[in-house]
Amino acid sequence: MYHIAILKGDGIGPEIVTAAMTVLDKAAKKFDFQLTYHEAAFGGAGYDKYGSPYPDETRQIVENCQAVLLGAVGGPQYDLLPREFRPESGLLAIRKELGLYCNIRSIKYYDFLANQVVWKEGFLNGVDIIIYRELTGGAYFGEKKRENDWAYDTIYYTKTEIERIVRQAFATASNRPRKLLHSIDKANVMESSRLWREVVENVAKDFPQVHVEHLYVDNAAMQLIVNPQQFDVIVTENMFGDILSDEAAALGGSLGMMASASLGGKISLYEPAHGSAPDIAGKDKANPIATILSAAMLLRFSFQEEAAAQAIEQAVTTILTEGYRTADIADDGMKSIGCMQMAQLIADRL
Ligand code: NAD
Repeated sequence: MYHIAILKGDGIGPEIVTAAMTVLDKAAKKFDFQLTYHEAAFGGAGYDKYGSPYPDETRQIVENCQAVLLGAVGGPQYDLLPREFRPESGLLAIRKELGLYCNIRSIKYYDFLANQVVWKEGFLNGVDIIIYRELTGGAYFGEKKRENDWAYDTIYYTKTEIERIVRQAFATASNRPRKLLHSIDKANVMESSRLWREVVENVAKDFPQVHVEHLYVDNAAMQLIVNPQQFDVIVTENMFGDILSDEAAALGGSLGMMASASLGGKISLYEPAHGSAPDIAGKDKANPIATILSAAMLLRFSFQEEAAAQAIEQAVTTILTEGYRTADIADDGMKSIGCMQMAQLIADRL
């Protein structure tokens, strides 16, 4: 029996997580395992119910589960709250408390989504990138202060924090055919980046089979657009990874397609890479695929149900090949469907 904490969150969160649960339920039936869901309020929903984006009631539920499936948090109604009450503070707190320092996002170009991308046809063929983003350090967690007419945020990293994520990225690169790792920093101007680069060079000695390249983040942002095929595995710090992985999502056709896993502690967390999309919330318009693919990662990494994970990934490809599309990836001549129908069809193809 696998226990999963379900944190639907805000905006489209409830729709996309319910959609993913439809697919998980079917996978459990087909592959003969049992799932128990433990739903709890989180983000804006946590604030509304308990006055905190990560309430103690939710924390207790999470700590008694083996994995967390999260929708998304945030919305304009929470934007003016003091920082500790904002939904995003709940997200930072759960990542930190669960020790989830390693965020993995995978970006693949599907040629049947060619019309969704702004690049010329054929230009993105073969793009297949994994981004390792450090998730519990850097500017989002460093000391910060705001007065009337000044403010600062601090980027602080220890060698240990850098080394543990860099090792994971090297290990993955060493298992991929190209064995290539790009480490992205800003070592020409930032001390934390100089330390980052030094640690990467040291860890590289343990992985002689992996070829390492260092890129400055500004150049990397451009290279992702002009020559994305050059990348295989990327490793970078928290804020650079946040920005570059959203940029890279465009290579896959839509933010609605990009899954993520956050690992490093006893309990891992799985969530789509996008936000709560308040503009389309409650309209059955959201693309649930990123959340469904995150659920596949959950089965793979937390429960070693590799066959079920692969079957879900294959069912997603099948449905897209058959021409079914949600609004964000709609195309002429394709069959337009909503969030729940997309989930049901993927479950049916399992
Ligand atoms: P967003 O990712 O929510 O939306 C950006 C655009 O992409 C919108 O047009 C939205 O409609 C579209 N989109 C996103 N996901 C989609 C999906 N599954 N299907 C179809 N279209 C989709 O980013 P934003 O608008 O900058 O932020 C909205 C809220 O989400 C803010 O409150 C922000 O703080 C929050 N946010 C939360 C997370 C998270 O929970 N991890 C991440 C990013 C932003």
